[in-house]
Amino acid sequence: MDLSRFPRRRYTSGPTPIEPLPRFSAALAATCPGGRGPEVWVKRDDMLGLFPGGNKTRKLEFLVADALARGADTLITCGAPQSNHCRITLAAAAREGLACRFVIEERVPGTYSDTASGNHFLYRLMGVEDIVVVPAGTPMGPAMEAVAAQLAAQGRQGYIIPGGGSNAIGGLGYVACVQEMQQQWFDLGWSPDHVVVGSGSSGTHGGMLAGLIGCHLAHSLIGIGVSRDPIDQVPLVQREAQSVLDALGINMTVPASSVRCVGGWWQPKYSLPNSAMVEAVQLLARTEAILLDPVYTGKVMAGLIGLARQGQLKPGERVLFMHTGGLPALHMYEDVVLGKISSPPAPGTAG
Ligand SMILES: *Cc1c(COP(=O)(O)O)cnc(C)c1O
Repeated sequence: MDLSRFPRRRYTSGPTPIEPLPRFSAALAATCPGGRGPEVWVKRDDMLGLFPGGNKTRKLEFLVADALARGADTLITCGAPQSNHCRITLAAAAREGLACRFVIEERVPGTYSDTASGNHFLYRLMGVEDIVVVPAGTPMGPAMEAVAAQLAAQGRQGYIIPGGGSNAIGGLGYVACVQEMQQQWFDLGWSPDHVVVGSGSSGTHGGMLAGLIGCHLAHSLIGIGVSRDPIDQVPLVQREAQSVLDALGINMTVPASSVRCVGGWWQPKYSLPNSAMVEAVQLLARTEAILLDPVYTGKVMAGLIGLARQGQLKPGERVLFMHTGGLPALHMYEDVVLGKISSPPAPGTAG
């Protein structure tokens, strides 16, 4: 697959590392049936550029390049009040000398605050131009179109980036990631039995699936839902992967059977904590000094731990955990992840 025909900006200086997690794997094995578990490795996409970077950095390399190619002067995007995606979009805008505006959906009523810390603090520090706050359930596309129309009336040109940067162009970032990993696996002399990734707005999971299909790789790719169970998540990922393959001009269809999503770990609700997430965040921090976030990677790692304990990730198998970033959100939940505030248990059922 030739990605060089798509405009791209670079926000990271080289491949992100793939590292073993020996102490984490040993601690996990001790809690698995028979005291044996999988060998877990991590792809450090939390070390991507636009610090503290994450999966949105890869998508934005293609999205922002497209915005620049079209002559835009302002990036417009949307997300939740503590959105990593909004923060990293703003960071890219600052780097490129573009203005940046957000439409923020107050998904949990009463949670938006003008003076919040975490990602919201970074919105203000990096100079977001304007934030429009809308109630839960507001259609975000039209809300962003309205911002673009406002700018156009002033002779400016906005570029709309959908939530999570998940469309065909954003998904190319994770096709590039698969190509990057293919080289790394070749250098390592092995490739993982399973890749475990978070599945939210689906650009990461769908982009990786498109990349694997396009590279003729048949690796097991497991998406742990952060906001939906498989019945709702599979069609989203399938559609995203298909649109990425279409953009690449690859004449292949993505069957629903190639999309593996796991539910049960994101409850009670997107962004709200559960006890399995707290265990996962603490375990990785205390065994490997790698920090997860409570909204995404903590729940995804809780899913990996659960699948290992259920015997779905088997002893001796190599599992690659995609660390997609999200660090600033950790500081929004300090008391929760320290166990000072009890959080509801996760159902922990794999679907
Ligand atoms: C956005 C995000 C995800 C989910 O990725 P999608 O491409 O939206 O599915 C996972 N982890 C982190 C840290 C994120 O910010």
